[in-house]
Amino acid sequence: MVELDERLRALRGAAAETAGELRAHAAALDAAPHDLKPHLGVAAFDLIRRCTTPQRFGGEPLRVGRHAFTTGSSLETLVWMTELAHGDAGMVLAAPGPSLAGILLDQLGDQAQQEYFHRAVARDAVWAFFAVTEPGHGSDAGAMESTLHRTADIHLLNGAKRFIGNGARGEIGVVFARTGSGPLSVRAALVEAADPGFRARELDMVGLRGAALGAIELRDVPVPEDRLLARHLPATRRGLWGAVRVFNTVRPQVAALAVGTGLACLDLVRAERPQAPGLAELAGRLESCRRLVYAAGAALDRDRDDAVLSSAAKVAAVAAARAACRFAVRSLGPAALVDHPLLEKWYRDVGAFEFMEGTSDIQRLHVARAEVRGRTGGRR
Ligand SMILES: Cc1cc2nc3c(=O)[nH]c(=O)nc-3n(C[C@H](O)[C@H](O)[C@H](O)COP(=O)(O)OP(=O)(O)OC[C@H]3O[C@@H](n4cnc5c(N)ncnc54)[C@H](O)[C@@H]3O)c2cc1C
Repeated sequence: MVELDERLRALRGAAAETAGELRAHAAALDAAPHDLKPHLGVAAFDLIRRCTTPQRFGGEPLRVGRHAFTTGSSLETLVWMTELAHGDAGMVLAAPGPSLAGILLDQLGDQAQQEYFHRAVARDAVWAFFAVTEPGHGSDAGAMESTLHRTADIHLLNGAKRFIGNGARGEIGVVFARTGSGPLSVRAALVEAADPGFRARELDMVGLRGAALGAIELRDVPVPEDRLLARHLPATRRGLWGAVRVFNTVRPQVAALAVGTGLACLDLVRAERPQAPGLAELAGRLESCRRLVYAAGAALDRDRDDAVLSSAAKVAAVAAARAACRFAVRSLGPAALVDHPLLEKWYRDVGAFEFMEGTSDIQRLHVARAEVRGRTGGRR
């Protein structure tokens, strides 16, 4: 079990302090997810930016008492993310900044590419996209069909991406595509929305509308050689390996978002029906999930490829968040979804967690494969 030391408790407290403001903005964002102007000043966005922008590219650390936090360990990220999601997960996903693309750049980008990217997203209201998923190729990312074709002096990117966070509001990001038919023939390119041939449109979402999913069309988008990621890395580490590293890092973060949302639902029950039968059990279940999320973060900090606990945490947290939403509706009565617009919103949001960074079926397959290969170390 992971016990938070004084430093992590301070981080957790600082994040918790900003969560109330996120919740106050949540309904407005849900109603108009593409109008971010009213929300850009929230303190949590500043916290997220400080904790996701490397200091070497101008990031200012978050200071809490005598502690300074910058792009930290997985565990640190999961600690602040759970607290912020307790405010509202949709608002967390609406924050401008490097997001998933930044994690990929850290893995596959050379110094110049990292610098170019981080300088671009350092401005106040710039979002970044990370485009893997295609129509018809969601869980099976390896089957992607988008192509990166080399001509005499440039590469050309063609294809379609769908369900991409910040897909239409992102100014810069990364796109994965095939250079050939084999599993190693996938590369990631740094792309800007203003590039010729790049078109994106917003998708209407039922839940988690702050994530602002988009569909991207790529028609002969020119990619200069120096925008291809991982040129300095061996062939085995150029494409899908980087995507898997990002998925491994982000999976427990989705679990953290789910735990926070479940806790938010229980807040409503606690305020109106503190004696509701089953409240303590669900609170305990979510607390166990939080611990599992922290343990998954600590495992990743020891070994970035050790993602078994992340998979287990995601399955458990998504199920617990769903249970907490249903429980809140049952406990507060049939009109609860009308009386509490945020409960109705969170009810829609929890459905989306299931699909982010691999569905529960896919996570169970990960755990089963690791077990067969003897890589769970006896953990259950
Ligand atoms: C809020 C949100 C944000 C997202 N952000 C991004 C992003 O930034 N970038 C990006 O590239 N993508 C993003 N996605 C897309 C996400 O990665 C896909 O939705 C996910 O991979 C699932 O793909 P799919 O929706 O096509 O479902 P499918 O893969 O079609 O799955 C449908 C069903 O089939 C099951 N299934 C599929 N394969 C198997 C299997 N082998 N064994 C057993 N069952 C299986 C699944 O469990 C699921 O129940 C986002 C999605 C959401 C909801």
